[in-house]
Amino acid sequence: MTTSSTDLCVAYGDGIGPEIMDATLAVLAAAGARLNLHPVELGEKVYRRGVTSGIPEETWQTLQRIPLLLKAPITTPQGGGVKSLNVTLRKTFGLFANVRPCVAYAPYVPTHHPLMDLVIVRENEEDLYGGIEHQQTPEVVQCLKLISRPGSERVIRYAFEYARLKGRRRVTCLSKDNIMKHTDGLFHGIFDAIAAEYPEIESEHMIVDIGSARVSTQPERFDVIVLPNLYGDILSDIAAELTGSVGLGASANIGERAAMFEAIHGSAPDIAGRGIANPSGLLLASALMLRHIGQSDVAERLQNAWLKTIEDGVHTADLYNSHSQQKVGTDDFAQAVIARIGGTPRKLRPAPTASGPLSAAVKPLRPHQTPEKALVGVDVFLDWRDADRDPKVLGERLAAASADGLSLEMITNRGVQVWPRGLSHTFCTDHWRCRFRRDGEAITHQDVVALLGRIGELGFDFIKTEHLYTFDGKPGYSLGQGQ
Ligand code: NAD
Repeated sequence: MTTSSTDLCVAYGDGIGPEIMDATLAVLAAAGARLNLHPVELGEKVYRRGVTSGIPEETWQTLQRIPLLLKAPITTPQGGGVKSLNVTLRKTFGLFANVRPCVAYAPYVPTHHPLMDLVIVRENEEDLYGGIEHQQTPEVVQCLKLISRPGSERVIRYAFEYARLKGRRRVTCLSKDNIMKHTDGLFHGIFDAIAAEYPEIESEHMIVDIGSARVSTQPERFDVIVLPNLYGDILSDIAAELTGSVGLGASANIGERAAMFEAIHGSAPDIAGRGIANPSGLLLASALMLRHIGQSDVAERLQNAWLKTIEDGVHTADLYNSHSQQKVGTDDFAQAVIARIGGTPRKLRPAPTASGPLSAAVKPLRPHQTPEKALVGVDVFLDWRDADRDPKVLGERLAAASADGLSLEMITNRGVQVWPRGLSHTFCTDHWRCRFRRDGEAITHQDVVALLGRIGELGFDFIKTEHLYTFDGKPGYSLGQGQ
């Protein structure tokens, strides 16, 4: 437990941001948080000055010096040309884990799942969020899904370390590796390997569709859930909604040397400036931050005072229900929490007692021998819009590009094989993947360049290539059919 003060950057945000930040900082001060505050500017006003990231140079400099941020929600201007500030911050500062506790506070906050208490640990930097998108033909656009070994390993290990520190009993991994055997398959494989290092914690894997369905009907059966970025983005909002109020959701974005904490709701422009917003999401985010920086004693005081306020029926308008005693605005809610500092809830489960901070420092990655990599072929993608789109015609014409044993092996359209075998029922777009391989023998970059030259001479518009590699003799590419 640290006794010295910690430097903290504070972004007041837009819309209701400044109101809920003032309320949160008042509670933090009253709870005895040991913080030196450094206000930083980011968000709507910065976007409007033409800074497409929404983050001005001075803020970058402060954040580099003090890589700890408590951030109120910001308004993202409508229309193109601006970048997601959150995605930029996460990637720039390597905030690899997005941790979102989803807890029910029944009966004070009505929910169908009063026993729900789960934590979602979402991979935060990779997957389809790389922003690598291309339109390749008039009909087809692609987005690249990137999953890395170290990226997966860091977030999965973090989930297990989190479970161990917080005394949680089970970690569930959700992926879609029955379809995405290489990308999601890597994530699942690393999960199994790391799970074996934590025998005291139960581990399980579920396919993300059925797993998400179970979360939505039986959230109380889950404990810690770790999953790739996109699934995590969707599931964490569903899980927050199941608790009864998204307005209470908090999240932590954790990196090795930086961290950012925020409420999960937006800037609520519809109620901004009226003094009625609920500051609870940001308040609970600040409790996550206090635990992260080793001030768990303060976090515990703050959370218990907040729980008691909710239990006493002192509620902002968004939570007002049949268990409420008093409807209050933002400032009065903060004052009610401050008045209860030192108290504990009677019915709701009290905040966990102080525990040490969870280090996000990267443990040495699992030893992994660099596999032997061999180039065995190439997938050449074509934009081909022949009037009939007959794969037989394409296959026969393109086969003429085969040479030196590097032969056209198959053609697929949206992943479905259409040549040399295929069904006339298959709908074909203008985007064709044409696989050339040399059986049993490696190929070279020169072979690929020569092949592309021949394909160009035949009059085809090739739009991209993907090399086919084997790793220790195992194909590092999907085999075709898709499902
Ligand atoms: P929102 O979460 O701001 O609002 C949705 C609804 O919930 C509104 O009716 C709002 O009044 C209510 N609400 C939200 N927070 C509340 C609170 N603390 N107390 C009481 N009521 C609350 O979502 P939106 O309207 O889709 O988005 C508004 C803006 O926020 C957009 O510009 C969006 O891009 C941005 N946004 C920012 C973040 C962030 O900074 N992390 C997250 C989500 C949305």
